[in-house]
Amino acid sequence: MPHSPAAIVSAMHEELRALLPLLDDRHTVRLAGRDFHHGVIHGQPVVLALSGIGKVAAATTAVLLMHAFDSRQLVFTGVAGGLAAGVNVGDVVVARQLLQHDMDASPLFPRFEVPLTGRARFDADTDLADALAAATRSCSGVRLHQGLIVSGDRFIASAADSDVLRALLPDALAVEMEGAAVAQACADFGRPFAVVRTISDRADDAAHLDFVRFIDEVASATTRAIIEEWLAHV
Ligand code: SAH
Repeated sequence: MPHSPAAIVSAMHEELRALLPLLDDRHTVRLAGRDFHHGVIHGQPVVLALSGIGKVAAATTAVLLMHAFDSRQLVFTGVAGGLAAGVNVGDVVVARQLLQHDMDASPLFPRFEVPLTGRARFDADTDLADALAAATRSCSGVRLHQGLIVSGDRFIASAADSDVLRALLPDALAVEMEGAAVAQACADFGRPFAVVRTISDRADDAAHLDFVRFIDEVASATTRAIIEEWLAHV
């Protein structure tokens, strides 16, 4: 499928707005209440979309991209709350694994396991994650972390809630609301995907304030720089 596009999905309007000016030969298709912007960036066919917030919105968007638009690979960009020590506002996390922290069908299945799949953790594509990590490293001044990102349908905005997640999932680097849903949908289709997140807050009592400030000031520019660098070297 040499001409099928790479999908770049943003959770937030601000990020899509930062990426759209890069798109040449743009045409937009509307489906299921979403705009899918097709075009070319650095010679690569791409489709840009806004997923909306949360696991269902993200999974729906991923399925449409793969089934209706035949996307050959999917990169999800956005912001996240830092969980592990040293994962600070402004840092970037490239996911190597994703897990739904709000999945719990125990005692029928082990906590976090997605029932009937036999697993809790879904792997990001190694080559794609490597490429995004390399793109991040070439953005000067950005600190990169790689490992587990956890997702759930909750904005984690208290030290008490993030302490619980840290205790249950000590290797989790960051928390957000979409990545693991995209991971599960892409696994069903057997399509490569990766998730790259800029840390907007520490998922603590100040999270809502940090989040709003950060989105406007930094996150969109970081996402744009990483995506441009990645596509320039594909
Ligand atoms: N009303 C807000 C909603 C943002 S929800 C708005 O301005 O649009 C938070 C988004 O950022 C989600 O897409 C989620 O993936 C990510 N995120 C950032 N920090 C998070 C945190 N501490 N907990 C959960 N998700 C977080």
